[in-house]
Amino acid sequence: MQGRVTAVVGPRQFEVKEYEVPDPAAGALVLKVRRANVCGSDLHQYHGDSPALREAVLGHEFVGEVTALGDGVTHDNAGRPVAIGDRVVPVYYVTCRRCPACLRGDFGMCQNSLREWSKNPDRAPHFTGGFSTHYYVNEDQYFFTVPDELDDQIVAGANCGLAQMIFALDRTRLGAGGTLVVQGAGGLGLYAVAVAKERGARVIVVDGVPERIALATRFGADEVVDLGEYTTSDERIARVQELTGGQGADVVLEVTGFAPAFTEAVGLARTGGEILSVGNLNVGEAFEVSLSPGVITRKSLNIHGVLRYDPWYLNRALDFLVRTQHRYPFEALTADAHPFDDIGAAIAAGESRSVARASIVF
Ligand SMILES: [Zn+2]
Ligand SMILES: [Zn+2]
Repeated sequence: MQGRVTAVVGPRQFEVKEYEVPDPAAGALVLKVRRANVCGSDLHQYHGDSPALREAVLGHEFVGEVTALGDGVTHDNAGRPVAIGDRVVPVYYVTCRRCPACLRGDFGMCQNSLREWSKNPDRAPHFTGGFSTHYYVNEDQYFFTVPDELDDQIVAGANCGLAQMIFALDRTRLGAGGTLVVQGAGGLGLYAVAVAKERGARVIVVDGVPERIALATRFGADEVVDLGEYTTSDERIARVQELTGGQGADVVLEVTGFAPAFTEAVGLARTGGEILSVGNLNVGEAFEVSLSPGVITRKSLNIHGVLRYDPWYLNRALDFLVRTQHRYPFEALTADAHPFDDIGAAIAAGESRSVARASIVF
C-alpha cells in the first residue's frame, strides 16, 4: 500500500511525497492519520527555523487509527489493550530511556527525541510526521488509546498543545486564587486558559486578534488586555498592575513566539512571580531583546523554559479532556478544517493567526 507525506524541502517549501507504507517492526505500530492540526512549531519548521527538521516531514499534533501492530504490541503505555482499528495518540518524539536526560528522569528532554522525526523521509520508515496519510510509531515512542467519548476534532490537539500546557503549568505554583497572564490566545494559550481555570486560578489574556479574544472569553478568561486598546508594553503592564491590586501576575505564560513578549513578561510578573517561556523558539540576532538581568534578580523571578512534556502527560491530557470537554469549547479551537489535498491552505490559515489551530482532515 502506498501512502503520502508532506515533507519540507526548503524554507517555505513543501512537497507531497509517496512511499510504500512499511510493516511495523517489533514494538512499533502503524497508524492511518485521521486529523492533524497546524501548530506554531510546524510553522517554525516550515520556515526553516528548526535546524534538525529542515528535511523532515511536517506535522506532530494529530490523532490516528491503528492499521498494523508490530510483534509484542498488545497494550498502550497506560496498560490499556490496543487492537487494529483503535484510535491512538502518540507522543511525537522519542524517549530513548538510555541518554543522560532520560537517566535523570527528564523524559521530555531526551537527547534522542528527534531521532526519528528528523530523518529525511526518503529513509525508512518514511512516515515520521503527522501531515501524512500514515504515521509510524517507533518502539521508543509512548502512545495512548483514545477514549470513545472524545471526537477527533477535540483530541487531535492533545499530544502537543494540551499535554504541553498541563506540563508547563505543573512547573509553577499556580493554584486557586492565583493570577495567570497568558500572552497570546492561540491554541496553546486557549488550552492554558482551560487548565488554569480548572486549578481555580484567575486568567488575564493578552491578545489583539478579535476572533482569538472572543474564543479566550468563551474559554473562561476573566479579563482581556486588548493589544488594540493597550498599544504599548508599559500600558499593558500598567493595566495588569491595576487588575492585580498593584502586584502583577503570579505566573506569566509566554506563548506568542514574539521575542519582546518575554521582556514584557518580566514586567507583568509580580515580585517572586514565575514566567513560563514556551512560545519563543527561535535563536539568533533577529530574536534578541534588551533586558537588565538585575530586574530578574530584584524581582526574584523564577523563569521556566518549557519545550516538550514528560510523555505520561499525554495520558493526563486525555483524562483532562474526558472530564472537561463539555465545559470548554475545545471544538471551536480547531473548527477551521481543510482536506489533506489542500494542505497549503491549512498552512496558510495557520500563518494568518486568525484561527487558533488550522486542522487537516483525512
Ligand atoms: Zn506543537
Ligand atoms: Zn533519552
